[in-house]
Amino acid sequence: MITIKLGDITKEEIGAIVNAANKGLRGGGGVDEAIHRAAGPSVMEECREIGRCNTGDAVITGAGLLKAKNVIHAVGPVWRGGEKGEAGQLRSCYEKSFEVALKNGIETIALPAISTGVYGYPIEEAADIALRTGKRFEDRFREIRYVCFSDRDFRIYKETLDRLSET
Ligand code: ADP
Repeated sequence: MITIKLGDITKEEIGAIVNAANKGLRGGGGVDEAIHRAAGPSVMEECREIGRCNTGDAVITGAGLLKAKNVIHAVGPVWRGGEKGEAGQLRSCYEKSFEVALKNGIETIALPAISTGVYGYPIEEAADIALRTGKRFEDRFREIRYVCFSDRDFRIYKETLDRLSET
């Protein structure tokens, strides 16, 4: 099942939440900062041990003080105009997130709109990639939950899912 909600992903009670991380796994602004702040130091400690993660890839850690059981740190692309392979990289980081979740027996997963904050990916195109990729993995999860942080993102996700479901 695919669901879309408006809210703060750090509050989700779920198998795993996905973090929009950076290659150094060092934390940063936005959702990354919020997740590390809410999780406490153990997640950053695990990230330090892992070291780094390439763009388009994802790694898993525990979730510290969060209600989720795991955090999957996915590295989306920085938007550079759309002709530098960004779409493939964004698709890949969703695929890798789902794959690492499945490998770890996770049946419910919550995801933010990766790359659409500081990294500047246009939300309409990012939502299309996020949801299309989710639909390919839908059967293998109990729930894939997209957590939007603004009313606008929430509306765009809803409209995009409706459009994808018609075809
Ligand atoms: P990126 O660097 O990948 O663009 P950001 O954290 O800047 O990552 O933004 C990714 C998305 O996460 C944006 O849509 C932003 O609004 C959203 N976001 C920020 N904080 C939260 C949160 N607490 N819960 C869910 N989404 C969030």
